[in-house]
Amino acid sequence: MEYRTFLIKYAEIGVKGANRAYFERTLASNIERVLRSAGQFQVKVADTRISVSAEGDFDYDRTVSLIRKVPGIASFSPVAEFERRDLPALIGDAVSFFGERFGDKALSFKCDTKRSYKAFPAQSPEINSEVGAAVLSAFPNVHVDVHDPDVYLRIEVRDRVFIYTDDIEGIGGLPTGTAGRMTLLLSGGIDSPVAGFLMAKRGVQLDAVYFNAPPYTSERALMKVVKLAEIVASYAGPIRLYNVNFTEIQMYIYDKCPHDELTILMRRYMTRIAERIARSRGSIGLISGESLGQVASQTAESLYVTDEPAGMPFYRPLIAFDKMDIVGLSERIGAYETSILPYEDCCTIFVARHPVTKPKLDIIQEHEKLLEGIEEMIDKAIGTADVREIGG
Ligand code: ATP
Ligand code: MG
Repeated sequence: MEYRTFLIKYAEIGVKGANRAYFERTLASNIERVLRSAGQFQVKVADTRISVSAEGDFDYDRTVSLIRKVPGIASFSPVAEFERRDLPALIGDAVSFFGERFGDKALSFKCDTKRSYKAFPAQSPEINSEVGAAVLSAFPNVHVDVHDPDVYLRIEVRDRVFIYTDDIEGIGGLPTGTAGRMTLLLSGGIDSPVAGFLMAKRGVQLDAVYFNAPPYTSERALMKVVKLAEIVASYAGPIRLYNVNFTEIQMYIYDKCPHDELTILMRRYMTRIAERIARSRGSIGLISGESLGQVASQTAESLYVTDEPAGMPFYRPLIAFDKMDIVGLSERIGAYETSILPYEDCCTIFVARHPVTKPKLDIIQEHEKLLEGIEEMIDKAIGTADVREIGG
C-alpha cells in the first residue's frame, strides 16, 4: 500500500506564541510552492502539525526529497489516513496497516499513541494496549519490546486517524520568509552558498548579488554562480540574482590606488553596490561568507573596513566556522561539486602579492578620494545589472 499523505512536524515554530499561526501559514505555503513540481496536493494546518495529501498521481520519491529541503521542518512521516470513528474501528485499521507492511516478519514493536482529539472515547494508554494486544494475536511472529523495538507503530488521533512507522529528518530552522529579506553576496566559491543556505534556514528570504568582471571572467564562471544560486534556491525558495559588471570599477581602482589595498577597496565598493541594491528591494541586511582569519581580507581589521560603508547589518554566519566544517556543510547541501569547478572570480584576477591584512580606515578613505567620478560608475554598474529569477 502506497502512502499518499505526509504529516509534517515543525521545529521551533511550536513555541512562537501569538505568532505561531503566521509561522504555520508561511510554512504551509512554502511546502505548497515546492511541491507544485511533484503533483497536486492539499496542505492543511491542524493542531501543531501540517498534513500534506496527494490529490492525484504524484511522484513519491520526488515529494520526499523536496519536503526534506524545506526550512522549518524538524521531521515528517509518510502516513496512512483513516476516518476517525471508535476504538474497535481504530484497532481494525491499525491491525490491517501493520499486517500489510510487517505481517509475515519476525520483529518487535511498540505502540505509541498521541491523542490530540480529546473527545475520542479511549485515552492513549488504552489505545496502546488494545492495539498492541490485537497486533500480537493477529501476527504470531511479532513480539512487544517497549525499550528498543524494531518498529514504532505510531497512531495520531486528530480530525482523522493517522498511522505510521517512519520519521524522516528535515533540515530544521524556521520557515523562509519569516525573517525579512536580505541580500547575499554570492561568489562562485565554497563559502557564500553555505552562508546563504544558513540564513535562509533561519527564515530569511534571499536576493543575491554577483560581481562579475568580463572579459577577465568568463561566461562559464557566471553559469557556475547561476547553478549555485539554483542549489541555494532549492532550500531558500526563489532568489533574484543581480549579476553586476564590476570590470570598470575594478580597473579604475587598479589604476589609481596602491595595489596592496586593491582587495579591501574592491570589497568596500561591493558593499556599497550591494547595499544600494538591497535598499531598492526592501532588504534589511547583507550576507557574506567570510570566516575569521581565513585570508587577508577576512581579518577583523579588514572586515571592520569592509563593513564601514554598509549602513545596514552585515551577517556572516560562517565567521567562527573552520574550513573543514564549511566544506562538510557545502557537501551536505549539494553545492561542493559545483563550488570547486576551477573558474576565475573577479577577486582573484588582480590580487596583490602582499595584500594589507590590517587596513586603516582613515588611510583607505584617503585613497578613495583619488577615485573621482566613481559614483557614476557605481550608478552604471547598478543600472546595467543583469537580473535573473532563480528557482521557483
Ligand atoms: P567564497 O568561497 O564564498 O567565494 P572566499 O573564501 O573565496 O569565499 P573571499 O573571496 O574573501 O572568500 O570572499 C569573501 C566573501 O565576499 C564571499 O564569501 C562572498 O560573500 C563575497 N564575495 C567575494 N567575491 C564575490 C563576488 N565576485 N561576487 C559576490 N560576492 C563576492
Ligand atoms: Mg571567493
